[in-house]
Amino acid sequence: MARPGILIVLSGPSGTGKGTICKELLQNYSNINYSISTTTRSPRAGEVNGVNYWFIAQEEFQSMVKNDELLEWAEVYGNYYGTPRRYVADLLDSGKDVVLEIDTQGAMQVKAKFPQGVFIYIVPPSIDELANRIYKRGSDSPEAIEKRLGCVRNELTCAYRYNYIVVNDQIAEATAKISAIINAEKCRVDRNTDLIDVMGK
Ligand code: ADP
Ligand code: 5GP
Repeated sequence: MARPGILIVLSGPSGTGKGTICKELLQNYSNINYSISTTTRSPRAGEVNGVNYWFIAQEEFQSMVKNDELLEWAEVYGNYYGTPRRYVADLLDSGKDVVLEIDTQGAMQVKAKFPQGVFIYIVPPSIDELANRIYKRGSDSPEAIEKRLGCVRNELTCAYRYNYIVVNDQIAEATAKISAIINAEKCRVDRNTDLIDVMGK
């Protein structure tokens, strides 16, 4: 049987660059797959169903929760978001690494079920730069931006519960650090006991 893939969970304040980092990781590391979340949020300009998210109605989301089809789910900034369970499980079983870009509530649900996951918290170089990035992205209304910025200090305290923290100052550097973390995690003894068992015989 293939060695199971690694589950990588990325969280961090809105606008910190999680989506940008994921895109870089997917382009440069072929064994990594992105888990497309479901959400009840409306698509932003340029977002595509089945690429950025599965955009669904609230009733459909509730039915997925009821049928235990979500690995985790949470209400974030007034909308519901969740990770489809089956897709993630199939990829991990076939030896593929999977990255989840989810909020801290969801990440802690995953940690309870998958303590062997790798939990990485992404921070911006400063709060001012974070505000800059959200405004420059131009995809949220001023009210939505204020709501997101209002959550930042509270959000940051959740970082203590993660395994790694990475500052997203330069995108290439942040992505390289995450790749280094994944490579190091692949070398952990507890993920490789089969090698010792085989050679020890
Ligand atoms: P998140 O997914 O965390 O909400 P995004 O990936 O959408 O954040 O990034 C927010 C904005 O910041 C985007 O316009 C993106 O191009 C920009 N951005 C991301 N990383 C950096 C960086 N290292 N330096 C400058 N701008 C960045
Ligand atoms: P956005 O609306 O900016 O795409 O995402 C808002 C927040 O929802 C971000 O913090 C993002 O990480 C989080 N999020 C996206 N998908 C999921 C998911 O499947 N589950 C959870 N718990 N949070 C998610």
